[in-house]
Amino acid sequence: MEVEIGEKKFRLMITADEIALRVNEIAQKINQQEWPEPPLLICILKGSFMFTADLVRRLQIPHSLEFLQLSSYANNLTSSGEVKGLDSFSVSVQNRPILILEDIVDTGLTIESLRNHLLHQGVVSVHVACLLFKPGSFKGSILPEFCGQSIPDNFVIGYGMDVAEQGRNLPDIYVLENAN
Ligand code: 5GP
Repeated sequence: MEVEIGEKKFRLMITADEIALRVNEIAQKINQQEWPEPPLLICILKGSFMFTADLVRRLQIPHSLEFLQLSSYANNLTSSGEVKGLDSFSVSVQNRPILILEDIVDTGLTIESLRNHLLHQGVVSVHVACLLFKPGSFKGSILPEFCGQSIPDNFVIGYGMDVAEQGRNLPDIYVLENAN
C-alpha cells in the first residue's frame, strides 16, 4: 500500500495492528517499572500525540500528563540540529520522576536537550519511552529505556508523524520510498 503526499511517495511499513502490539509492550514495561512516586509524563508535540493517547489508556500506574511543543525539524526531512521550545516548559518538575514520550528518537538530540534541561530543574529521574528508534542515526549518550521498535534510518510518517504537516492522521506508519 502506498500514499502520495505532494511529490513524495511513501510505502506501508508498520500496520496499525503492529503499532498496537508495540504500544502494549511499552505500557506493560512502564506498568512494571518501580516508580518512587507517580511520574510526570511529558508528551512531546506534535508527533507524539497519538502515541501518548494510546499509551496512557494502557497505563495502570498513577501519573500526570503535560504537553510540550519541541521541534528540531522545521519542514525538512533532516534535523536542524537545534531544539526549540525548551523554555516554554512551565510546570513545576522539581522532585518528580519524569517520563518523556517521543514518537521517534532519531539523533537523540531532542530527548538529550530536554533531559539536560529537566535535570537542571531538580527532577528525580528522567526516563524515555519512544515508539520508534533509529539506531543508525542516534548520537545521544543514553538509550531510551522503553522502546517499541528499531527502524532503518529512513524518513517515516503516519501515526502522528508528519511531512510538512501532512500525514499525521494515517493510522499506519509509512516510509519514504527511494530514501537514502
Ligand atoms: P531527534 O532529536 O531524535 O533527531 O529527532 C526527534 C524528532 O524529530 C521526533 O520527535 C520527530 O518529531 C522528528 N523526526 C525524527 N525522525 C523522523 C521521521 O522519520 N519522520 C518524522 N515525521 N519525524 C521525524
